[in-house]
Amino acid sequence: MKEEYDVIVIGAGIGGLTCGSLLAKEGLKVLIVEQGSKPGGYATSYKKDGFVFDSCIHFVGGCGEGGMVRRLFTKLEIEEEIEFIEIASPVGITLNTRRVFLPIKDFPGFKKTLRKFFPEETTQIPKYLQILQKIAKEILDLASPSFLKLLFFPITYPHLVRYRKSTLKDLLDKYLTDPELKNILSCAPTTLPPSRISLFFMAMVTTQGHEAFYYPKGGIQHFSDTLVKGLRKYKGELLLDTLVSKILVEKKGVCGVGLASGRRIGTKYVVSNTTLEQTFNKLVGSENLPDKYMRRIKNQKVSLSGFILHIATDLDLKSLGLSFTNAILPSDLEKEFEALNNNQMPDESSLIISVPSLVDTTLAPQGKYILSIVVPAPYSYDWQNKKEEVARRIIKQAEKAIPNLSTHIIYQDISTPLTLEKYTLNTKGAMYGLQVTPEQFGINRISQKTPIKGLYLVGHYTRPAHGVPGVAMSGQFAAQAVLHSRES
Ligand SMILES: Cc1cc2nc3c(=O)[nH]c(=O)nc-3n(C[C@H](O)[C@H](O)[C@H](O)COP(=O)(O)OP(=O)(O)OC[C@H]3O[C@@H](n4cnc5c(N)ncnc54)[C@H](O)[C@@H]3O)c2cc1C
Repeated sequence: MKEEYDVIVIGAGIGGLTCGSLLAKEGLKVLIVEQGSKPGGYATSYKKDGFVFDSCIHFVGGCGEGGMVRRLFTKLEIEEEIEFIEIASPVGITLNTRRVFLPIKDFPGFKKTLRKFFPEETTQIPKYLQILQKIAKEILDLASPSFLKLLFFPITYPHLVRYRKSTLKDLLDKYLTDPELKNILSCAPTTLPPSRISLFFMAMVTTQGHEAFYYPKGGIQHFSDTLVKGLRKYKGELLLDTLVSKILVEKKGVCGVGLASGRRIGTKYVVSNTTLEQTFNKLVGSENLPDKYMRRIKNQKVSLSGFILHIATDLDLKSLGLSFTNAILPSDLEKEFEALNNNQMPDESSLIISVPSLVDTTLAPQGKYILSIVVPAPYSYDWQNKKEEVARRIIKQAEKAIPNLSTHIIYQDISTPLTLEKYTLNTKGAMYGLQVTPEQFGINRISQKTPIKGLYLVGHYTRPAHGVPGVAMSGQFAAQAVLHSRES
């Protein structure tokens, strides 16, 4: 088959767009093929009656001066095309007995606030946070280690050795006792309870959050569209509404892709931004892969899915003292997970309420606001018949932070796990790709490289992690791997 492209990227999620545009900048002939009608995957928006709603993502980390995402936009020379609004408000957390506002950017302020609200834990909180800081420092140092440091690994990286199998719960239980404090410190985008979250992942989330979070002015779609501008600037191409149905393999190496239309396109490299299940079982075919690798792929666990309410309201959310990001936490995160894992909706859910129109007034007509409520949800559930009932219950729970919300809804739209799966083909609508357990984080996570020559992975089913900065980094790793392979 004639090689028409150097690289074909399957999927225009943030991972795929990052990898494709970086390789196009290096002069490679790149084609990104996306089955959906818009680029972005989970990073898309839609318009309704003068409101702009983000389908899933609501804020992005690493967009400040020197931040990882900002550097990517600078490298692609597209930083002038986008405005990142810093989210200055603290995260508002509603617990059963109190409401806490936690500063994110200011780490000493974060520590001080926790000590103020939990005076009985005042000596333990700094000890707990110090361990997280030490772990995060060693992880960051490991990104560019010297030979000597690696040689003396156990001495240079004692915390990485000591806590490599630890979950968040292990450290929480060692240092702290208050259940509400433990719940606050477990509040992270994972869909996992503390007994399953990798301590390394949580160390990064808790201590690196002070880089601040940002909102791309105009909506999340603008973020994805700007990356597409980067791709096109370097003559990369994007095909929308086109499903890849086959990765063509010859002599244990890729030679092209087959589209659902029957067309075949030749290429030297394929970068897959889709799920492990789809990439290996459907597109490559397990017969082309070593049994050991397929066994490993089969054993990977994906995150839970989500139930999302997109709401437009005439309530003045600013005067209600709402933050951009607000969480309402149940008293028992382990119990919530147990119900979800058994395909039930728990009585009390973890709610994340985002209010983007507090920082970007272009998203809603004057005097009106949009907000979204995201809760973890099981895939196997009677969504057809029960989604309205679940929505009512979630709104009732949200009224703990937004009184009278139910009587001030102008527009409401519901996304269930089936919606997430339908639009992005994520496995069972998984919100965050692979779970971030100790067994699936760091070097234990599936790598960009695969046993098939010329086939690489990007996105939240590979290293380093989920979330926009995580998958953008995976795009950089995959681009580096392709460039490295061309040189060797
Ligand atoms: C409700 C929700 C809220 C979130 N909030 C945030 C947040 O606020 N901040 C944050 O940083 N992260 C957030 N995340 C996580 C973040 O969205 C994801 O981790 C990240 O966007 C995943 O990017 P990705 O590159 O892996 O690809 P995806 O977004 O999964 O996109 C993959 C793309 O590949 C396409 N595709 C799949 N198969 C094929 C095929 N065969 N042929 C062609 N195209 C194909 C799909 O259509 C899709 O467009 C949230 C996720 C969810 C679900």
